[in-house]
Amino acid sequence: MINRVILFVGPPGSGKGTLSQKCVQSLGWTQVSTGDLCREHIAKQTEIGKKIDFAIKSGKLVSDGLISQMVFDWFSESNSASDVIILDGYPRTVNQARDFNELADTLNDTADVVVVKFIIDDDIVVDRLVNRYICGNKTCQRVYSLKIASAHAPARTMVCDVCDSNLMKRKDDTHEAIRERLKVYHLHEDDLISHYEDAGYTIREFESDSSIDELFDSFKKQMGVDS
Ligand code: ADP
Repeated sequence: MINRVILFVGPPGSGKGTLSQKCVQSLGWTQVSTGDLCREHIAKQTEIGKKIDFAIKSGKLVSDGLISQMVFDWFSESNSASDVIILDGYPRTVNQARDFNELADTLNDTADVVVVKFIIDDDIVVDRLVNRYICGNKTCQRVYSLKIASAHAPARTMVCDVCDSNLMKRKDDTHEAIRERLKVYHLHEDDLISHYEDAGYTIREFESDSSIDELFDSFKKQMGVDS
């Protein structure tokens, strides 16, 4: 039974995906990433995938209706055993947040919704994302940085330390698409947070320009998670 839904809100490259993965691995929670759902459609060349390919490459948002449908489908088809679900990158607009309210109404009465807002400078994000490479193995997806002297560099050139698959670059990790994604994020951020305040959700803020271990520790502390 789902007891808590956590909404990760933050600019691209702010650590939403990395912190989600840490919560999945260390706490057994479940992550639903709308970006991953979109990329799966594109990789499988579904009808939806063909429609959204251009929007993703150029850093624009996919339509609210399509995205909310993907999330609703996930909730109705999932047989996740975890009682905590992280929604990573959804909702991103007030329309999606309204759709989410309908979904939240279908959860059990005691389930709570917590909003986690990631705060980080745009320049740091750009620097992170232009240097970001990801393991091409869908079940691994470990994130690396090819920035000189980075603590997150792979041990071997373009090969994943964990599963030996080749590293790849996301198509939307180009300067142009990153700037567009940041612009889109800032366009919606304030309205989205006001909507959550009105809905009475708890909102927690995290400065996310820190190492993943530091971020994870302060996250667990603030969320009252023991481990
Ligand atoms: P990031 O947060 O770094 O932009 P994601 O993997 O979360 O990366 O999303 C990648 C892309 O997928 C977005 O730029 C957008 O095109 C699409 N997308 C993901 N989530 C949403 C959403 N909630 N609404 C609209 N489009 C989305």
